[in-house]
Amino acid sequence: MNNGTPRREFLGAFAAFSLFPLEQEKPDVILYNGNILTVNDQQPHAEAVAVRRDRFLAVGSNSDVLNLSSAASKKIDLGGKTVTPGFIDAHSHPAEAGLMHLRMVDCDLRSISAIQAALRERAAKTPAGEWVLGFKYDDTKTQEGRPLTVADLDAAVPDHPVHIEHRGGHTTYSNSLALRMAGIDEKTPDPPGGKIDRDPATGKLTGRVAESANDFFDKAIPRHFTRDDHREGVKLISKMLARTGITSATEAQGTPTDLLAYQDAHESGDLLYRAYCFINFHFLDAMIAAGNRTGLGDEWVRIGAVKLVCDGSISERTARLSTPYEGRPNDYGILVMTEEELYTHGRRAHLAGWQIGTHANGDVAIDRTLRVYERLQKEHPRRDPRFRLEHCTVVNDSLIARIKALGAIPTPFSTYVYYHGEKMRFYGAERLNHMFALRSFIDADIRPTQASDYPPGEFIPMMALQSEVTRTDMKGNVWGPKQRITVEEAIRVGTLNGAYASYEENLKGSIEVGKLADLVVLGRDPLKENPSTLVTIPVERTMAGGRWTFES
Ligand SMILES: [Zn+2]
Repeated sequence: MNNGTPRREFLGAFAAFSLFPLEQEKPDVILYNGNILTVNDQQPHAEAVAVRRDRFLAVGSNSDVLNLSSAASKKIDLGGKTVTPGFIDAHSHPAEAGLMHLRMVDCDLRSISAIQAALRERAAKTPAGEWVLGFKYDDTKTQEGRPLTVADLDAAVPDHPVHIEHRGGHTTYSNSLALRMAGIDEKTPDPPGGKIDRDPATGKLTGRVAESANDFFDKAIPRHFTRDDHREGVKLISKMLARTGITSATEAQGTPTDLLAYQDAHESGDLLYRAYCFINFHFLDAMIAAGNRTGLGDEWVRIGAVKLVCDGSISERTARLSTPYEGRPNDYGILVMTEEELYTHGRRAHLAGWQIGTHANGDVAIDRTLRVYERLQKEHPRRDPRFRLEHCTVVNDSLIARIKALGAIPTPFSTYVYYHGEKMRFYGAERLNHMFALRSFIDADIRPTQASDYPPGEFIPMMALQSEVTRTDMKGNVWGPKQRITVEEAIRVGTLNGAYASYEENLKGSIEVGKLADLVVLGRDPLKENPSTLVTIPVERTMAGGRWTFES
């Protein structure tokens, strides 16, 4: 010590002694008699696991693991059920979605009359004159085959202003009272970059408005959320995710408010998934000034990448493509940031040690984003920057080679083929073979993740497996069969690859001794299931950090 032994080494010597009592630590819980798919190449299959506090203490055969038990160990017979690591949703908007579920009517229903009934029910519980808000409405999914009208909404709820957001997020539908309160009438001109729909025959308002015309409502609708509301939103969405087997999720467009909501929910015991909280680039300077960067936090709440946005969306056909949308010869989609803007924000983040996650759907946007990443890495090389391409939907061989060379991570939509099949025709059969390109990524030794983008996409991991393995939508149409992957690959994409995308592959993503005890007990074995019914496999239990976050 007196010759200047660093303090860390000194402490390290003591830590070595403390390993002896650790060896004798007894499991709190043993799960045995299971079909455990570990996603660990060294030991792909096991029968039993022992959990001590929040970690796996042992993984192996029934006899080896049960031998460790003490009188205090709780033993659970899995009865041959299948276990996988907890699923990781690498791109989603859960905190925001939680708030929506808290305050708004979920309009993901299959008929206009069902939507009317749900709105009526909410209105009955809402003081007259106050807003009734809806979300997740999708005009392509109701049996009437036509969009909601102002008359539908007036008939359902006459005495409250009603305002419903489309699932894609760019259009809304309102009743007469809502239009009036927003200051919109038949004479209101379309604002720049927006549209107020009118019946072409009568000139009367249809109730639908698009893009910047939504600003009328943003001003009229009181949207004050308290700190408690944000925590409650996380609590609500936590239960929804846990039920499907999700134990970690990336908040892909996070703010300091979301980061606080996660800490509050964790403190109150209501956070049931591990949050990797991206930070919207608007807050980057403030975050850097406060000494924050990617990775700060703990295994429950961690600061993620800075979020940049390069182009539009797939579900609303605004992604920037090199060849036009099917049937719309002059429509190539939109770019929302110039290359110089991406570079300027990206450089600040890169130099400050932040991971960067850029929304890039179309091949033109991916090319632009990669060019920025390549430039940053050339000018300021950093070890292991793990640049992320959020969505990374439409690719080609040369983009894939550059993604590989850079070690970048794509987070393609996992459930779109299955769930949003009706929108795939805008891209065409040939292009679909280069979209959500898991087969190409895996063959190139790239590590793509599972990602829902909820609310626009569904987050159910078993639906992701089915979508990725079959490339078949709900109605049986096949989209891009060349990108099919195996069930084993899809499970790895949804677990270990997700952990890698947040620099946590040594902490979670597989069932291994020392890793966080995050797992899912499934009702049936996905490896033995007919791929076209994977989505029906029930989740029986979910564990995160040794705690059951869901039990059926
Ligand atoms: Zn997103």
